[in-house]
This record gives sequence, structure tokens and C-alpha cells, in this order.
Amino acid sequence: MPLFVEVALPVPMRQTFSYQVPDHIVIVPQKGMRVQVPFGRQQLIGLITAITDTCSLTPKQIKPVISILDESPLLPDSLYKLTAWAARYYFCSLGQMLSQAIPVALRKGAESKAAQVFYWSLTQDGRAADINQLNRAPAQRKLFSALAERDLEQHEITTMELSKTALKALDDKGWISKKSRVGTINLSWRTELEMTEEPHRLNPEQAIAVATLTQHKNYHCTLLEGVTGSGKTEVYLALLETILKQGKQALVLVPEIGLTPQTINRFRRRFNVKVAVIHSGLTDNQRLDAWRNAKTGEAAIIIGTRSALFTPMAYPGVIILDEEHDSSFKQQEGVGYHARDLAVMRGHLEDIPVLLGTATPSLETLQNALSGRYQHLHLGQRAGVAEKVRQGIVDIRNQPLRSGMSHALLNEMRIHLDAGNQVILFLNRRGFAPALICHECGHLHECDRCDAFFTVHQALGEIRCHHCSNQYAIPKQCHQCGSTMLAGQGVGTEQLASFLEKEFPNHPVVRIDRDTTSRKGSLEAHLNSIHKGEYKILVGTQMLAKGHHFPDVTLVGLLDVDGALFSADFRAPERFGQLYTQVSGRAGRATKPGTVLMQTHQSDNAMLRELMHKGYGEFARNQLHERKQALLPPAWHMILIRAEAHLAADADMLLTQIGALLPQNDDCEVIGPMPAPLDRKAGKYRRQLLFQTKNRNQLQQAFEHALPQIELLPLAKKCRWSLDRDPQDLL
Ligand code: ADP
Ligand code: ZN
Ligand code: ZN
Repeated sequence: MPLFVEVALPVPMRQTFSYQVPDHIVIVPQKGMRVQVPFGRQQLIGLITAITDTCSLTPKQIKPVISILDESPLLPDSLYKLTAWAARYYFCSLGQMLSQAIPVALRKGAESKAAQVFYWSLTQDGRAADINQLNRAPAQRKLFSALAERDLEQHEITTMELSKTALKALDDKGWISKKSRVGTINLSWRTELEMTEEPHRLNPEQAIAVATLTQHKNYHCTLLEGVTGSGKTEVYLALLETILKQGKQALVLVPEIGLTPQTINRFRRRFNVKVAVIHSGLTDNQRLDAWRNAKTGEAAIIIGTRSALFTPMAYPGVIILDEEHDSSFKQQEGVGYHARDLAVMRGHLEDIPVLLGTATPSLETLQNALSGRYQHLHLGQRAGVAEKVRQGIVDIRNQPLRSGMSHALLNEMRIHLDAGNQVILFLNRRGFAPALICHECGHLHECDRCDAFFTVHQALGEIRCHHCSNQYAIPKQCHQCGSTMLAGQGVGTEQLASFLEKEFPNHPVVRIDRDTTSRKGSLEAHLNSIHKGEYKILVGTQMLAKGHHFPDVTLVGLLDVDGALFSADFRAPERFGQLYTQVSGRAGRATKPGTVLMQTHQSDNAMLRELMHKGYGEFARNQLHERKQALLPPAWHMILIRAEAHLAADADMLLTQIGALLPQNDDCEVIGPMPAPLDRKAGKYRRQLLFQTKNRNQLQQAFEHALPQIELLPLAKKCRWSLDRDPQDLL
């Protein structure tokens, strides 16, 4: 009886493909095995998703599988379910989602089992043979006598630099044979866990958290909200001790920038177990090795960045996400999955607990904790001793600024630098789409149709409301005081850094942003130099704040508070609140108290005051309330459709047509098309459309219904377009 398989391939088509399994393939196909198949003129590697004995294609249309690459399924069933769920949720093909979940080496066809070691040894005949028979064949003689000493691995023989014919000649005589063995798997940690460091005595809050967390063995999700330095990592370690003692593994996910040797070492120091580290800096083979160690259970702890989420575990025990609010958990390129949301789903599917830790919870997670869907634990005291920081606002209304810096901030910098300390200056990503604010009186220009600020599109010569699409030409004068000093484009990190180099020639400046850290290892190198004190002035974007403690930094300046608070991106205030809280929590140390200064045109702004005086917790709860009022996530659900084209009209038209395919009523809203806040890039016009719904299911259904029709639109083939569900970044 002919046998057919359905195969998910790494192509954008949202479907699987049928192939026939030819008789000469002896491996019995199973769901989840890799196969190599013809696809057009190429050969692709895909995963079997189903096995059938009938097929709707005609015998002429159906092509045969070239080979089956695995002897057993590659991933546990839970991870297939996870990828299938994710493919549906993020509206991509199963093949595309599976390629996110599988290490590159396996996608290219590498062996999934631990590499076999090949070696040569003497056969019985060989051992009985007389070496003098080889006197006239010195190469064979040399090899024979070496093998008489001990077995030799293939690569050891290669280094002896003998001709291949010598090996073959001995093999033909039947004197030697090739054998293989697999590296053995060491699972001793599961029965006797060896601790290599004495844990801290937990403080009462930590002890309560650990006791609560260790009660559950099944799925439940917990938010651990603890101020910076309150000992969250210590709680993770105590929880791990319990989990590992039960013979189960732990998956720890950290932000991209957070996976420093210090972090990894804290886990290595405590337990004598194998730790698999997985991040984007590994070679394909290192990554595959780590993946195998996790899959076999040899690695008790798996620690990694976003994509490590898909690492299989033989004995799943817990998933921990540190700094759960961090935006690097959302993939921006290609399939835009969110590792935090998928981690919670994985916890469900594997029926294990999930722990989300942070000092500054994302509004999504906070809402789930406040509504009771997640358990909510707090750590309020600092574990170590630390002085509270001094915080202040610099009102820059009508003040002369030099490269974005006020006199007040420059003077304060001098004091800290003269005392031998370091200074950090933060800027947002700039150069596009700021709010329209009057430098003289601080007036913010608001949309006259709704409760949102206008965004300046310098290139288009217009201001736009990104909430309702309302637009005007950029005004020449302030609507409140008539001043012509309307702040448009801001300063970039590059300009600021070169200004500071001239202003403070004796204090070396370093710039940390996407441009200066794109090369592998360059971020680590920069951070190391900062720790050694080689730089005194640190200029950076949000990136610099994540999970780092620079004990000699005593002054933190936030230059462009307005750009963050009044941005077109509705998440910007939340991000700013997180940045502010994270840097305030880390500035200075017991002996050197820190100062945090914010420059703004809006010194009386209620949001800002609240953040300073009541802290992130209050601020975030109010933000949550405002999002509900404005029908924004996490209250409502959102998908962003981006289009770019050489002709703006093409992108606009495509999005208009897509908009027409989507429902609009009390529960579903279409906004746009409108220019993306970054409206031109690499000569292409960028446009976007937002589709928002009151509940998650409405979005799923409406979009699943519209998608096949969208794909048939002629313009959909002409323009580049992409989907971003739960967008984290509207730019
Ligand atoms: P967080 O992860 O919340 O920022 P950490 O776990 O890194 O906090 O703890 C901050 C510092 O306090 C670390 O140096 C840690 O070793 C120390 N620490 C944590 N818990 C305790 C404790 N119970 N007793 C003493 N020191 C502690
Ligand atoms: Zn004004
Ligand atoms: Zn508006």
C-alpha cells in the first residue's frame, strides 16, 4: 500500500505539502521526523506533520520523499503543539514557525542524536596475524602496530598522514574493522544533586515566595515583582534547588543583553550540574550541542535568550523568565513571536510552573496578575544595603540647549566627573516622529479630535494623529504662546557623543546603541571597558539600562523625556517608566549615592510626578487604566499590518484594500492606512494599518477569514508587507 506524508516546509505558504514515501525507504515515517524533499527546483528539509495512506494528488503530480533524516521525532509532542499554536496565532506557516524552533544545524540536515564516534580496531584475525608479513608495506605496518597498541579514532588516523590505501588494504585483509560508539549520557544529577555553594539565608519575603512557588508541581504562572536588588535571582536559585532535586530540568530565559558571564556563573556556582547556554553568539554546532544536552536531560539547567524557549527538555520542571518586561523577548524580524507569551503556553502544554520576574512588570503581565490569572508575589526590601537615589527634574523650557544638554545637567556632570565617578546619559532612538512641543512654553500640540498628541512627520511636512489619522501642515507658531521655537527633530546619540568629547576632553566617552554593538562580542567588550573604568561618560539608548550594574556611575541623565512620554508609540510611557525605574535602582551604591536627573519641557506633568514620587507600581496601574480608556492593549487586541513600496500610493492602496476586508463595528476597529512613524526607509515608503478588537478571538477569526483574500490581492504581490500581532514597537 502506498504511503504518503504531509510535510511542513520553511516557505511562506500557509499550508503543508504531500509527498509519497518510496518503497526503498525502510524507516517508518513518524510525525516530527525530518525529511528531505524536492520543492520546485530545490531540495528542502521539512518536518512530517501527518502520515496518510491516501492522497488527493494524481500519481503524476505527487513527488517522492528523497530521504528521511531521523529515526525518531525531533521534538517532544508538547513542542509540536506549541509551534502549531504559535503558527496559527501569529498567522505564519507551520514550516516557518518550526524553523524558529529548530537549531540551524538541524535545519541544514545535521545528525540530531549525539554525534557518533568512529574508531578502528584489530579484528580477531588481525590480532592473530604476523606483523612481519607487512615488512614491504611500511604504511600498513605503521598503522597495524599503532592499532595493536590501542583502538584509534578516525581523526587520529588522519593525523598519522598515511595513504588511504594502507587503511583499505588492512581492511581488505580482514585484519581491522571500523566501529562506532555513542557518547554516554550522564544523568547522575537526577539522583544525587551536588551543591557547590552555600545559599544565602533567605529573608522573610524571599522565604514566603519560595514556599509559595514550591507548592505547585503543575502549571500555574506567577509574577514575582521585586525591586532591583531585592534578591529575585536568589529566589530563582532556591526554586531551582527544589526542582533539580526532583530530577527535573529548568529553562531560564533572560533578555538578549542580560546573558553575561556573571549571570551564567551565578547558576554554575550553586550546583554541580551541566548548564546548557543558548544564545545568538554561538556557532551552529555549539548550539546543536547545547540543544542535544537539553534534550537528553544531561543539562539540568538551560539558560538562554528568546529563541532558547523552544529547547526540548527530557524532564521539564519549570520555566523562569527574568526581566519579563524586556522587549527583546519579542522577535521583531520575520515571525514576530513573543517568548514570554509562548513560555506561558509551553508551561500549560507541559503542565509545569512558569515564573515571570521583574522590578517593572509589563502592563500585559500586570493585568494578568491583578485579575488573578497569575499568582502575584512581591519583594519590597533590598537584600543588600543601598542608599536611596536623589531624583530631580530639569525644566528646559526656554533654556539654551547644546546638543540637547542644558547648563544645569552639564554642571552636574562636571561635579560627578571631577569626583572620579562615571556618568550615563540616555537618549531615545531619535531622528523621526517626535511630538510637537513648544520650546518656549512647553505646550504640547494635541489632536483636536481625540486625546492623543500630534506626531511630526518632517519629510511629509505634516503633523499626524496616530490615533485617528487626523492631519495638518506643520504649524509655524505655537498654538498657545505664538512662539516660533517649535521643537522638531531631536539629537541623536552620535551627535551627543561628539559634542561631549569636545566639552570634556579629559573624560573618555563611549556610545552604546544598536550601531555600535551590532558586531558579535562588541557589546561585551564595551561593557568590560566600562567596568574597568576606561570610559567616564556613557551615552546610550535604553539598551544600556538592561540588567547592568555599574557601581561607579553616580549620575544618570535622561535627556529626552518628552520624546519618550509623548511619542506616537502607545507603549513609550511604559518603556520610559521601566527605564527610569531600572536606572534609578542601579545608580550609585552604599558609599556613593546616585543622582538621577530628567530634562523636560513638561515639568509639571502628572505622569512624571507620579513616577518620581509614587514609583513604578502606581504609575503602571494608572497606565493600565489609561490603556483601557483608550481601547489599547492589553485591554484590546492589536495586529499591525505593515507595507512598503517605492510608490507611496501602492502601499496605501494595498492597506486600504486590506482594511476593506476586515470587519468594523463596536468590537472591531481599523485605523489607517497612515505613514509609519518612521515613514521612509531605504528609499521606500512605509505605511501601516492597525486592526484592533475587543477580544482575542474576534481578531483571530476576522483575520483568519480575511487572510486568504488578502493573499489574492494583486498589490500583495507587488508590495512587501508583513503582519505583527501584539506589536511591541509601532515604529
Ligand atoms: P535581583 O535579582 O532582585 O536584582 P539579586 O538576587 O541579584 O537581586 O540580589 C541582589 C544582591 O543581594 C546580590 O548580591 C545577592 O547575592 C544578595 N542577596 C540576595 N538575597 C540575599 C539574602 N537573603 N541574604 C543576603 N544577601 C542576599
Ligand atoms: Zn508656546
Ligand atoms: Zn486624533
